Amino acid sequence: MNVRKVGARKNIALVAHDHKKEDIIQWALENRHILKDHSLLATGTTGKLLEEHLGLPVQKYLSGPLGGDQQIGSLIAEGKIDILIFFWDPMESQPHDPDVKALLRLGVVWNIPMACDTATANLIFSSPLIHEEYTVRLTDYEAYKNRVLR
Ligand code: PGA
Repeated sequence: MNVRKVGARKNIALVAHDHKKEDIIQWALENRHILKDHSLLATGTTGKLLEEHLGLPVQKYLSGPLGGDQQIGSLIAEGKIDILIFFWDPMESQPHDPDVKALLRLGVVWNIPMACDTATANLIFSSPLIHEEYTVRLTDYEAYKNRVLR
């Protein structure tokens, strides 16, 4: 069985589109007491704002439209992200819409808990597992990897 072990201290990726930046800052302030116990990663601008408002260290990657979403997606594929908080904007198309879709897709491929709104983020953060180790069962991709192509 393919599994991924998740530690008590989690790697939490945070991404918000421009019209959702206020929401993520507000949500993060309300959940600072939990966020402080984990490792935080973010796309460039989101990370800068969160660092300023939370006073917590955030590992910052490129700004989303410049490749940051793809960097976070690549970390997911490497098993280095445990939770994705991704407040994307449902009211406006983005120059990097393909990257947004790719990030959401990889989250599902690797069975990452993903919150795209504050309600889901609050439910994830109210789980007792937020402070505990646990094991995630992954989809078995062996048959896919071993498929025979002619
Ligand atoms: P940003 O990127 O945090 O650099 O603004 C977010 C995004 O648009 O994906």
